[in-house]
Amino acid sequence: MKIVEGTITLKLPEGSKEVLLKNLYLSCDPYMRLIMTKGSASDLGAFTPSSPLTGYGVSKVLESGHSDYKKDDLVWGFTKWEEYSLVSSTQILFKIEHTDVPLSYYTGILGMPGVTAYVGFFEIGSPKKGENVFISAASGAVGQLVGQFAKLTGCYVVGSAGSKEKVDLLKNKFGFDDAFNYKEEPDLDAALKRYFPEGIDIYFENVGGKTLDAVLLNMRVHGRIPVCGMISQYNLTQLDGITNLANIIFKRVRMEGFLANDFYHLYPKFLEFLLPHIREGKVVYVEDIVEGLENGPTALVGLFSGRNVGKQVLVVARE
Ligand code: NDP
Repeated sequence: MKIVEGTITLKLPEGSKEVLLKNLYLSCDPYMRLIMTKGSASDLGAFTPSSPLTGYGVSKVLESGHSDYKKDDLVWGFTKWEEYSLVSSTQILFKIEHTDVPLSYYTGILGMPGVTAYVGFFEIGSPKKGENVFISAASGAVGQLVGQFAKLTGCYVVGSAGSKEKVDLLKNKFGFDDAFNYKEEPDLDAALKRYFPEGIDIYFENVGGKTLDAVLLNMRVHGRIPVCGMISQYNLTQLDGITNLANIIFKRVRMEGFLANDFYHLYPKFLEFLLPHIREGKVVYVEDIVEGLENGPTALVGLFSGRNVGKQVLVVARE
C-alpha cells in the first residue's frame, strides 16, 4: 500500500483474501495489558514488539479480496492501532448492518464488551427475578450493561466503582438500586453486609483481589460468580492472595470463567435483544471518547487507574 499526499494507492495481491480497512474507532480493552505479560496463559493472541497493537475497532472497508465484504462496508472486529490496516478476512470481522445508533457503539455496547455483559450475565450467571446482584468496575464498558440487564431481569443490583462521579452514574443514569465507592470503604466485607444483608446470588467479577475475597464471605448458597475479569491483578507479577476461597464449597457456589470470543454465534440473538432496548432508551450507554491515535497509549493505561468514565473509545477518523 502506498500513501501519496493524502490519497491512497493500493493493489491487493492477486487472489488475496485480505481486507483493507480505514480505522475509525479503536477500543481500549483491559485484556490488552494481560496479553503483554510474557508467558500469559491467555489464548487471546500476543503482540509483536515494534508492530502496531492489534485490537477491536470499527472500520470502513476500502478494498476487499473477500466476497463477504465490499468497498464502503462498515465493519467491527479485529484491526490494528494505525490509520489503515490490512487484515485477514478470516479473523473476527462483523459487517455493521444498523447505523441508526452511534458507530462507536460497536466498540462497546454493540461490540465485544456488550457480548461479554450479555453472555456473562444471562448464560453464565443464570439470573432469576428477585435475586441479589453485585457488580464490580460497575460503571465501565461491561459493568454498566450488566447492571442494566440485571434491572431488566427484576434483580436487586448494587455496583462498586472508584469515584463519586461513577457512583452517581450508577445510581442516577444506569438505574442501579445502590452503589458505593470501594476506595472509601476500609472494610469491604462490612460494606457488602450493609448492602446485602441476605447475601449475594450473583457476583459479576471484573476486578479480583480484595473485592473477590470480601464477596466470597457474602455469597448465598448456590450463588454464581461469572468470572469476567480481574483487572486489579493485571499489573501484578504475583496474584493477590485470596483467603476465603473455601467458601465456594460451603456455599455451593459456581464460579466460572468465560471469554466473549466463544459466544459470537449468539451475536444475532444479542442484537435482536439489545437494539430495541437502545432505540427505546431502555438501555443507555456512557462512552469516554478520546480523539487521536497519539492519545491511545494514555487512554489504554488509564483503564488501570480508573481514569475512564464509561467505555474508553479512541477516535482515529470520523468516516
Ligand atoms: P472498564 O471500562 O470497566 O475499565 C476498567 C475499570 O476497572 C477502570 O475504569 C476502573 O474503574 C477499574 N479498575 C482498574 N484498576 C482497578 C483495581 N486495581 N481495582 C479495582 N478496579 C480497578 O473495563 P471493561 O468494562 O472493558 O472490562 C471490565 C473487566 O472485564 C476487566 O477485568 C476485563 O478484563 C474484563 N473483560 C473480560 C472479557 C471476557 O471475554 N471475559 C471481555 C471484556 C472485558 P474504577 O474507577 O471503578 O475502579
